[in-house]
Amino acid sequence: MTASVRVRFAPSPTGALHVGGARTAIYNWAFARRTGGTFILRIDDTDPNRSTAENTAQIIRSLRWLGLDWDEGPEVGGPFGPYFQTQRADFYRAALEQLKAAGRVYPCFCPAVELQAKRALAQVQGGTRGYDRTCRRLDPTVVASRLAAGEPHAWRLAVPEDQEDIVVQDAIRGETAFPASAMDDYVLVRADGTPTYNFATVVDDSEMHITHVIRGDDHLSNTPRQILVYEALGRPVPVFAHLPMIWGPDGRKLSKRHGATSVEAFREEGYLPEALLNYLALLGWSLDGETTIVLAETLKSQFSLDRIAKSPAVFDHEKLLWMNGYYIRGLEPSELAERMLPFLEREGLTAARQYETHPQWFVALATLVAERIRRLSEAAQWVGFLFTEQVTMDPLAADTVLARPGTRKVLDQVKQTLATLEEWTSAEIERSLRALPETVGLKPRLFFQIVRVAVTGSTVSLPLFESLAMLDRRVVLARLEAALAYAKG
Ligand code: GLU
Repeated sequence: MTASVRVRFAPSPTGALHVGGARTAIYNWAFARRTGGTFILRIDDTDPNRSTAENTAQIIRSLRWLGLDWDEGPEVGGPFGPYFQTQRADFYRAALEQLKAAGRVYPCFCPAVELQAKRALAQVQGGTRGYDRTCRRLDPTVVASRLAAGEPHAWRLAVPEDQEDIVVQDAIRGETAFPASAMDDYVLVRADGTPTYNFATVVDDSEMHITHVIRGDDHLSNTPRQILVYEALGRPVPVFAHLPMIWGPDGRKLSKRHGATSVEAFREEGYLPEALLNYLALLGWSLDGETTIVLAETLKSQFSLDRIAKSPAVFDHEKLLWMNGYYIRGLEPSELAERMLPFLEREGLTAARQYETHPQWFVALATLVAERIRRLSEAAQWVGFLFTEQVTMDPLAADTVLARPGTRKVLDQVKQTLATLEEWTSAEIERSLRALPETVGLKPRLFFQIVRVAVTGSTVSLPLFESLAMLDRRVVLARLEAALAYAKG
């Protein structure tokens, strides 16, 4: 019987959750769901200077927003906790004791400055950059007395003298061999008692019975070092799967210079979580090489490691925008209305209408906007004129459209017609206005452009008749009146 899959996402809370980390989390989660395994969230908060509780909270918020859930970890607990590395010192201590007893580690008393000087010299002379094993050669009685005297010391892994080259079997990349000569006796526990990343990670992954380590390939060079720690501890080595990097369009590692990179920033820009999830899932993985719309449900039932690409994926903002627009159009109008709301509020657009008292009005609004936006944040620019008494007039539109001869006549006619209309619906408004252009001898396009600018303040707007119906008649009439001021003839 094979043990059931246990995977983890182990972010360091030294900043926000970025798309690269989010993709790693999605793949781990999807793999666990697909295999009926367990998805664990562990917070690698060992860097005391850069780890903060706010970052942890933000990472958790971003993961939840994307729709990911974990079976063990912060907020949910689990049998192999605690799930914060800073709370796991006992495990690291016990593992170190085990390695000491087995003679697989040795204390290193070399002061940091001395190590630095040696490294600098090695760099100049082209020698080995790693540790020269000075303390490994110390006489045991000397070691014992220096320890007894309380001399500061780190603990280094005693890499076996006959160590062979280490071959990493990666589920995505295949085999990569690392020369044994590159494995100096690296530090597992620092002089201040804290574990290094390569030690803490192995202890935790092994205590938590992780079966597959799925992470970014920036960690590939750590993997042989971690394998040696597993072997020293006599614990089973998990399967490794290193994900290819994410690049910007210029072929360089994705970073801020390419635009938003944190999940929170995408949320604030008005991306839907299901769109970002879909986009990131396909950034280095494919269902069949063709399908572009992949829902969480599909990932949960279809995700597999063997369809992960070997080469870097390029982050394409345009494609993500397209996908977001697709998901926006697919939302129920009532759902879109609710999701748009915070973005309208952010622009101060709720004063006149309240969602609570006019839900249908907002649903109608969402229906009109859905086809025109690719991000929720774009809604405000389309609907602003529906939330104010007076309209903000685009001077160019006023100049090019309202200043033409004939405008006054148009505005007067429309005003009269609308003032006496029995029913204030878009169908009635349209029916009554359609007949007018001919009577004033104007082309319909020009005629309605005048009305559009007068009422919306712009030459580009939501559909005119629907827009008029969404405004109070009183407001429409006042705007038509106010627009007379721009009319020249
Ligand atoms: N805390 C590490 C990181 O964020 C985890 C790497 C790993 O998955 O082992 O890079």
